[in-house]
Amino acid sequence: MEIRTRFAPSPTGYMHIGNLRTALYEYLIAKSQNGKFILRIEDTDQERFVEGATEIIYNTLNMTGLKHDEGPDIGGEYGPYIQSQRMGMYMDYAKELIKKGHAYYCFCTKERLDTLKSSNEKGDAFSKYDRHCLTLSQEEIQKNLDAGMPFVIRQKMPTEGTTTFHDVVYGDITVENAELDDQILMKADGFPTYNFANVVDDHFMKITHVVRGSEYLSSTPKYNLLYDAFDWEAPVYVHLPAVMRDAHNKLSKRHGDKSFEDLINEGYLPEAVVNYIALLGWSPSDNKEIFSLKELEQCFNISGLSKSPSIFDIKKLTWLNGEYIKNMDAESFYILAENRLKNAIKNTTLDLKKIAVLLQKRLETLNDIPRLVDFFDALPEYSTDLYIHKKMKTTEEIALSSLKAALPVLENITDWTENNIHDALMSLVQTLGIKNGQLLWPVRTALSGEPTSPGGAMELADILGKEESLKRIKIGIEKLQNTLS
Ligand code: GLU
Repeated sequence: MEIRTRFAPSPTGYMHIGNLRTALYEYLIAKSQNGKFILRIEDTDQERFVEGATEIIYNTLNMTGLKHDEGPDIGGEYGPYIQSQRMGMYMDYAKELIKKGHAYYCFCTKERLDTLKSSNEKGDAFSKYDRHCLTLSQEEIQKNLDAGMPFVIRQKMPTEGTTTFHDVVYGDITVENAELDDQILMKADGFPTYNFANVVDDHFMKITHVVRGSEYLSSTPKYNLLYDAFDWEAPVYVHLPAVMRDAHNKLSKRHGDKSFEDLINEGYLPEAVVNYIALLGWSPSDNKEIFSLKELEQCFNISGLSKSPSIFDIKKLTWLNGEYIKNMDAESFYILAENRLKNAIKNTTLDLKKIAVLLQKRLETLNDIPRLVDFFDALPEYSTDLYIHKKMKTTEEIALSSLKAALPVLENITDWTENNIHDALMSLVQTLGIKNGQLLWPVRTALSGEPTSPGGAMELADILGKEESLKRIKIGIEKLQNTLS
């Protein structure tokens, strides 16, 4: 049997990290078993419709490499893949359920339903429908329909017995049928609810594994009863625990947690995000942490899924992102960094490629770039405290004498290359009989005006050029003289 999974996002206008993780696991479950990964857009909730939202879904799948095999944009045997284009069939199947005695028309007004809610003793927002319309006679129903009265179609739940289903992550789950609400299948606007559409679509799209958030776990018995009512085979269920912000709260865009797009805008790489979220609820059989999508496709296994919720740890993602940046080849990194470098560095005489090489080892996210390279453009205001460095064994006095000694040596270099700068400074260290750091730290500090910088003294001097380097060293000397006088 071919494994078929589907990603069924509602176009909400952003890609929630939890949803992206669901998509990734759906993709991996399919691909690790040579199966198909299908994209279905669930746009039947007209109130939630957001312009441009489907583009975000396509873009995310594209950027992350989760390539679907069937979907609205590429077609497939079981389309249409947009729910609003499948409207006719939902009503037909709802009516079939009515015929079979598993569903019924309900003409209750909103006002009546509201009174049901307020009569709930516990004050719960949710209350069970009282089955007022279940006993309507055929004539009454026809009369109401002929009069054009708005209606919904409800699922008729069994009132006795239990329903059990198996979930791959959560195990066997059993509910008392008497607790199940006669949920709405078709809404008054003629659209199906998610609760109905997901069953009809998953069946006709031949989905073998339904992978989704655990918030759907409590409704799954109702879906199973629908499969039974139609005499359809239910899929394998894989419900995933929520991705959490902390021990008590789910990750939520409304509460300021980042979406996939936010992370990309903040300089995270799609590959790193995919790698990180793969580990949010799934553990490989070894302790490996860095996985390309291809590697995940090979080693992903449903048995590695966990039912304990995982906490989204931005620090861990940031670390992983840094690893991805470090491991890129220099050319690809430059392409990635170029725009940000150009925005941060206006001085067009500086060799951005050389800067990129230094930067690549230092970076955790692309958005660190401006902060780390600003000083190339203009020397920042800085305090001479920066010259004091315990490990380098420098004090302001040592820094001043080192800079004074370095100035003529650097002035003497005619061919300003990193090698020549290196040789000149290292032979000065010898002549002065001091430690490397006692010369190089002051020079680096004078050139950058920063407590840390991508690149050391020689690399910075090379990139800044002779004139600018000498100018900055003179400024350093002056600042130190002022402090020490
Ligand atoms: N449209 C639903 C959502 O975005 C999909 C749930 C499912 O995968 O069945 O939450």
